This record gives sequence, structure tokens and C-alpha cells, in this order.
Amino acid sequence: MSSTAAQTDAPLTDAEVLRIREDFPILHTEVNGHPLVYLDSGATSQRPIAVLDAERDFATTLNSAVHRGAHTLAAEATEAFEDARGALARFVGAEEDEIVWTSNATEAINLVAYAFSNASVGRGGAEAERFRLGAGDEIVTTEMEHHANLIPWQELAARTGATLRVIPLDDDGALRLDELESHITERAKIVAFTHVSNVLGVINPVAALVDRARAVGALVLLDACQSAPHLPLDVKQLDVDFAVLSGHKMLGPTGIGALYGRRELLAAMPPFLTGGSMITTVTTTEAEYLQPPQRFEAGTQRVSQAVALAAAVRYLDEVGMPRIAAHEEILGRRLLAGLAAIDGVRVLGAGIDLPRVGLASFDIPGIHSHDVGQFLDDRGIAVRVGHHCAQPLHRRLGVTSSTRASTYLYSTEAEIDAFLDGVAATIDFFL
Ligand code: PLP
Repeated sequence: MSSTAAQTDAPLTDAEVLRIREDFPILHTEVNGHPLVYLDSGATSQRPIAVLDAERDFATTLNSAVHRGAHTLAAEATEAFEDARGALARFVGAEEDEIVWTSNATEAINLVAYAFSNASVGRGGAEAERFRLGAGDEIVTTEMEHHANLIPWQELAARTGATLRVIPLDDDGALRLDELESHITERAKIVAFTHVSNVLGVINPVAALVDRARAVGALVLLDACQSAPHLPLDVKQLDVDFAVLSGHKMLGPTGIGALYGRRELLAAMPPFLTGGSMITTVTTTEAEYLQPPQRFEAGTQRVSQAVALAAAVRYLDEVGMPRIAAHEEILGRRLLAGLAAIDGVRVLGAGIDLPRVGLASFDIPGIHSHDVGQFLDDRGIAVRVGHHCAQPLHRRLGVTSSTRASTYLYSTEAEIDAFLDGVAATIDFFL
């Protein structure tokens, strides 16, 4: 994609999307005798050759454990690993030492939740007090979260005696902003919410939640899993304390994710996993820990995955995140309007007046989402079915499951149209 890089916010042209697709070998496969129409990037994205090559090149020329060993390969592998951290930091507007590698976003959220266990208090000076949590304190999240940003907080509440407050949704599935004051009170210690809903595709008003959290002195964790791949993201501009993302949703490999944390907060937090590579000195009775981010990176690291994720963000930057966002906004509008125009389809969150990414979920009363998915799959169309790890949201909207279509930079309008035809045919077949 090198020659199409452009410093504009204009949507990608059809020709550019076709060129991008050339970089993704899997998009040229057939499924059930049809060209693959991949509309499941919200679950996991496909990888361009540059990312596949980066991982293989590392394995064939540099493979070595990092931060140990005096030999040349170990030094070069360490440099590549740390360069990758720098690349991701720049991509999200953070400093290099504010990025912690994790296995995925789920681990990153658990890492932060763990810091609120009382065991951590007193280790990191004044900032550590912000992690003191017990009966009478509150943890705030929302009814639209992925389970990854809900269950760690449920567990934390159970461990500490704190109360979990959940910001409710309206009948369309939008966050009840009129409930922010009553749900984010002076008792709140942390407010954790998603930037973009993995079910509705709406982009939440981050500033409204951050403003309220700041007004009561609570920390903020942003789940950027569905935003970092699709929108320009600047954690400093958004003024969040923590942000989490997963590499496999942004053209990178599985097995790697990241936590952004404000430097002084990370410095006050205890390690989540302990063991090798995160210490300065160890005796048989105690250990001193390294400064962040190494404090949080115990054990042998996922080096080739980090290097490949850096290749992924370079690829995204070269195409241009504003252009990707503009392209997906067009696809998202086509998706939503097309679904809304099909008789018998109920689009979840259709009435929400917020900006969106290229993702929509829907229910067809009378047809189970698994049947919808199966019918589409027969036509080579890959979508996600089920509750998408967001049972409370589905329950609030009165459904047990839905079908989700989600786009990425390589998705085309023709694919959206093939999908819409498939949905109409599903209804003709079953109803
Ligand atoms: N948060 C959101 C909004 C998601 O969409 C996902 C994955 O679907 C996650 C968290 C969890 O990501 P992972 O399973 O990669 O840790």
C-alpha cells in the first residue's frame, strides 16, 4: 500500500480499496464455492502480507529472548521489541514507557482491576491511594460492555466489598447520559467503559464520561478494542488514565494486546503476574520490581507478535487512520440503511443518534441468529452470531442473540450489498 498513502481525510477510493485487498491473501479465498465476503473484522481482523512477513522475518533472522543474554541476536531482538512498543505508543498518542504488552485486552483490563486489590496500597506513594478500594467505594461501568470489561470489575467488587454501579441504557441501547451524575458519584474510584460498542457500532461520547469522572476524582479506563482499529486514537487528547486494545483486531497477530497507563499511575501499581524478567533483586524471601512497563511483563515475552503488531500499525498509518474511518463510516451507513430497509429486520441501536463505525447487529424475529449465520455462510459470507460477549446489552434490548456484520479498511460496498442480498434471501427462505 505504499504508493497510495495520502495525508488527507478523504475516504479511500474504490481503486485504493482494491489495491489494499491485494495485500490480504485470505480475502482471495473461496468459501463454500463463493468468494469470501469477510464481515467479521469486529471479532478478528485479517492480516496483510507486511504483518505476516514481519512475524516470519523475526523468526528467521532475529529470534531470541529479549532483555537477557549478551549475544547479538538477543540485543537485536530486544531492540525490535522495544521499537515495536514505540510504534504502538506513537499510534495511540502515548509515551513509550506508558505501553505495557499483554496477551490481549482482556488481560490488560484484569491487570488494572488487580491493582485495586488492597494488597497494592502503599507501594507507590500518593498515587497508590487512588487504588485503595473497599466497602463504600464504587466501580462504575456500563450496561453495553463486552464481558471482558464487566466480569473483572464484578470480581474486583466481590474481592474488595466495593459496589459495582452500571450506567443503564435507553430503549435504543444508548448510554443514559442523564444518569451519569447519579451513577458516577464521589464514591467512584474507577469508571470503565467502551469507546465503541462491539454490538451497536456507536462511538460513545467519551468526553461526557471523562468530565464526570474527573469531577468526582475517579480514574478512567477506556476499552479501545473497537476504536483503535478504526478511528484515529489519542489517549492524551481523550484524557483517559488507561486504555486497552487487542492486536488481532487491528491487523496484528493473536496473542498480543496492550495497556496504556499514565506513567505515574503505572508506577504506583503492583505487578499482576510475577516471575522472571520483572525484577531488580530477589532473595529467598522477597523481590524488588523493575519500573513499568517491565514490571508488568513477567516471563518470556511475545516478541514476534509485538514486532508484527508494529508492522500492522505502520500499515494502518500509511493508509491513514482518518481515511480508514471515513471509508468505514460510508460502509457503516450503507450497512445500517440497507438493513433498516429489509422487512422483518430489527437493527439493534438503530435509533441512536451518534457517530458509528462500520458495524451493525440485528435480529430477525422468528429466525435464530445461528440459522442466519449458517445461511450466509453457505454464500461465503462470514458474520458473527450469538451474544457477542455482551449478554446484558442483549437482555436490555429484549433479545438473546443477534447477527453482526463488521467491516474494515479492506471491505467494499459490493460486499455490503452481497450481505444485504443474503439477509433478504434468509428471510425469504425461513419465513
Ligand atoms: N472489548 C471489546 C469492546 C471487544 O470487542 C473485545 C473483543 O471482542 C474485547 C474487549 C476483548 O478482546 P480480547 O478477547 O482480544 O481480549
